[in-house]
Amino acid sequence: MKTVSDYIRTIVDFPHEGIMFRDVTTLFADPRGFRIAVDQMLHPYAGLEIDKVVGLEARGFILGGAIAHQLSVGFVPIRKKGKLPGATISEAYTLEYGEAIVEVHDDAIKAGEKILLVDDLLATGGTAEAGIKLVERLGGEIVSCAFVIDLPDLGGRARLEAMGMDVHALCA
Ligand code: 5GP
Repeated sequence: MKTVSDYIRTIVDFPHEGIMFRDVTTLFADPRGFRIAVDQMLHPYAGLEIDKVVGLEARGFILGGAIAHQLSVGFVPIRKKGKLPGATISEAYTLEYGEAIVEVHDDAIKAGEKILLVDDLLATGGTAEAGIKLVERLGGEIVSCAFVIDLPDLGGRARLEAMGMDVHALCA
């Protein structure tokens, strides 16, 4: 029986030479793969109170939307700068080359809401950290951060755990 990692392919030299890109579109495209990924991501949270799922652009929208639907809670997108139409707050973070900015609507999360943060892959943790900061600035409380893939050698898990975060991933 195939496991989640069997549905993920690696594309060599994307987006730059030397990068081994983990491509989850093959996981999403397979009906069993997508279902077991979402079910397994939800597994650690059975019985926990979660008010909203926050997904990081862009693959975190696909997973986060399915997870929010399954939990019967709302979904909040964290988007790259300039994409959200309403009033936003923003956080800058460092990329391999340069800086990126992510935003969330300033009324998307209420103080005290319990949040599950979702993305496809955890590498350095910079993207997730920016997302966590946005949620916390709005008064949300991160229950946990859920990923399909964790690349522990890049330090993301250690970085998020040092912030006091609970981190779950399905495969490395
Ligand atoms: P980090 O900020 O942890 O260094 O990078 C994670 C972010 O970059 C996530 O939003 C993730 O979608 C994206 N990312 C980086 N490398 C890969 C990769 O190899 N495959 C996929 N699917 N996403 C990646």
